[in-house]
Parts: sequence; structure tokens; C-alpha cells
Amino acid sequence: MEQKPLTTLPGTRDILPVEIPRWHLVEDRARQVLALYGFQEIRTPLLEATELFARGIGGDTDIVGKEMYTFTDQGGTSITLRPEVTASVVRAYTEHHMYRGGGITKLYYIGPMFRHEKKQKGRWRQFYQIGAEVLGSDDPAVEAEVIEMILRLLEQLQVEARLLINSVGDRNCRPGFIAILKEAISQDLGRFCDDCRRRAQTNTLRVLDCKVESCQPYINRLPRITDHLCRECSEHFQKFQDHLREAGIRYEIVPRLVRGLDYYVRTAFEMVSGELGSQNALVGGGRYDGLSEVLGGPPVQGFGFALGLDRLVMILPDSLAEASVDRPEVYLVYLSDEALKAAISIARLLRRQGVRCHLEFGAGSLKSQMRMANRVGARHVLIIGQDELAKERYSLKRMEDSKQWEVSLPELSQYLQSLPAAARKNPSSTNDK
Ligand code: AMP
Repeated sequence: MEQKPLTTLPGTRDILPVEIPRWHLVEDRARQVLALYGFQEIRTPLLEATELFARGIGGDTDIVGKEMYTFTDQGGTSITLRPEVTASVVRAYTEHHMYRGGGITKLYYIGPMFRHEKKQKGRWRQFYQIGAEVLGSDDPAVEAEVIEMILRLLEQLQVEARLLINSVGDRNCRPGFIAILKEAISQDLGRFCDDCRRRAQTNTLRVLDCKVESCQPYINRLPRITDHLCRECSEHFQKFQDHLREAGIRYEIVPRLVRGLDYYVRTAFEMVSGELGSQNALVGGGRYDGLSEVLGGPPVQGFGFALGLDRLVMILPDSLAEASVDRPEVYLVYLSDEALKAAISIARLLRRQGVRCHLEFGAGSLKSQMRMANRVGARHVLIIGQDELAKERYSLKRMEDSKQWEVSLPELSQYLQSLPAAARKNPSSTNDK
């Protein structure tokens, strides 16, 4: 019986070789920039105890309520494919006593997340994030520095984003604001959507986050948290803004921007891009001073962010992506069996010297091999025929300008080594800041 070909699951996809240079470019640049700012990589498991997220993200969120990939393993443990990493990083920080050395700990991660969301453009069920966490400081200067770092990365990738900020208060001032907010919502309760009506009771701040069109006029009329901050939160917010201004960073205050969980405090921020369409959020982050205690750890202040890699890759300028493609430096064309043997040994020699070579086994005529060299984007073609073998001199063709000349092996090596390293990989990139 004929079998139907299998395909990827909805909301997941293969990232094909042609797209990979874009991903590498973003990941490489991110690693460089994160290192410049003193972050070290951490790799936590994709599988964690469900309880970590139930506690660390909160039972009333969409993520925990309806989006987690959860299963019971053979040992009867409830396990979840991670929908985010902050909770894992904070768990690891406690589990490995990273707080013992004192000072601040700066960690970053890159990898896949899993959320069973409604799929649409820019929204996947397996998606990738780059994120970083600073543990052990409540200084607003840390927050501004992290934001500066993200903007530096985006600038290097020639991507523009607007910075939106807010303060969500703390245990001191937020309960009072929530009471005021609840009261205000109850005035128009019948006009809000079902989710808002439910959230008004369970997680009132999240009403401010609602995207349903018909709720917007009523949400816009609700009281603003920034008008109800206690003195400490207000000072923190002011200092955060001072640091942003000193760094020359532009921002907009959006009082509706919230993180709806109790242990998120003070600074919340988002970066959005006009090029992303309806799913315009590129980066989200904030302060979560109470999270460690919720997870059974010591009191630890924390601030972090997560950047959507899929979305960043999507809006990366083509010119930048194009320039980062690892094209073969030399395509070896051979015109006989004997020439193939020579081609294999020349390729081995060149590869030892760090030169990317492409050899097509079982290749056809000169014409078809030249066509293939073009297809793989080779920068040079080395032609090895009987004459060349006899003379030990080969025809080298530079594809860019079709210039062709004869070289011996030592001359070939010398010529290839003389090409600027950056140009070899990245012929038209001038953005090596
Ligand atoms: P969050 O962890 O929800 O704060 O999201 C941080 C960033 O991850 C967002 O700003 C998006 O760029 C990205 N992101 C979140 N969910 C998805 C998704 N389902 N598909 C693609 N990217 C996502």
C-alpha cells in the first residue's frame, strides 16, 4: 500500500540550509555582544518538571493554562517541554548555588521553546529565543545596560525596533492599584470580552494586556499604574529612565504594558518592530525579584529578557544575510578519472589550509560542472584536465569577473591565503563593527 509522505507538525518547521546563514549570523553576533557585556552561556534541559513552570510562570497565564506540551513519563512524572527559560535559569542558579560567590550573575541562553499557540505568521509552536538574565541586583542601571546591549545587537543586525517601557509597581503599591483597577473595570464589566471578565477577578493587571478590538476603548479609559506607584517604585522608574537618557536611548512609556504575575516587579519592557505585522513583539523582558522564592530558592533579585529569534531572522535585511553565506572558495572541476584523484588530493591540501572546497563526485562535462559551480555560488573554479596534470599548472577562474589564469599549487595556496579573511566569507560586508 502506498504511504502518505510524512510532514512536520503544524506550527513547527524545518529550517533549511539556505536559511541557516541568517540564523548563524544572528546567533554569532548575539554571542559576541552578550560576551562584551559579561554574560556567560547556560544550557538547561528542554524537559523540566511541570511544576517549575506552573509555579514559575503562574497557573493563570495562557502559557500554563492552555499552551504547555505536558506529558507523564514512564516513571509517572509530569514533564513539560519548556515554554520559556527564565524559570529554568533561576532554578539552576539555586540548584548550583551560584549566589555563593556574591555579586551579580549574568547568564544567557539560545534555544527552542514550545507553546501550543494558535499558529500564524511569526508565531510558531516550536520557536527560538535568545535571552539573558541578570541575577543578584535591583539596580535600574542594570536594566538600562541590558537594554543598551539588545539595541546594540539590533543595530549591528540593521534592525530597528521601538522600546516601550513601564513600571508594574511592587508588593507595596500594586495591591492598591489592582483594587482601583478592579473597581474601574466593574463600571463597564459587561462591555469587556469573556477573557477580560475572567481576568478581572483572577489576574486583574492582565486586562490591560487584552488585544481584543472591542475592549480597547474601555481599556484606554482605565487608570494608569504609573499614576499609582509608591515612592520607591517611582524613584526606581525615574532612575531607570535617567540611565536610558544618559545612554541616548529613546523610549516610550506605555502604562498598559504589564507582566501579570505577582513576582514581576517594577520595570517591564518590550521592543516592537513595524516590519513584523500583527505579531510585532520582538523582545519582552522585566524584573522578577520574587521568582526565586516562588521556586523554593533564596531571595534573589532578577532582571531579564527574551528575544524572538524566528522574528529577528525574518526581518534581517537580505543584504546582510546574503553577505554571511558560507560560499565555497574553490570548486574543483575535473575532466578524467586521473584528474579526479588529483582533485581529491588538492582539495585535501586546500582544506588543511582552511579553504572551503567543493568537489562533486560523479560529475559530468566541463559545461555541467561549471553550471554546478555557479549553483553552489563558488567564488573560484579550479580546472584539472590532462594538460594541467602533465604541466602541474591548473586553470583558476575567478567567478566574480571571469578572470582566468594559470597557477601551480604553491601559487594557488599563496593567492587564496592573500584574500582578506573577512572577504573570503563575507565579500560585501562592511558592518564588522
Ligand atoms: P515571551 O517569552 O512571551 O515574553 O516572548 C518573548 C519574545 O519571544 C517575543 O517578543 C517574541 O519575539 C518571541 N515569541 C514568543 N512567542 C512566540 C511564538 N509562538 N512564535 C515565535 N516567537 C515567539
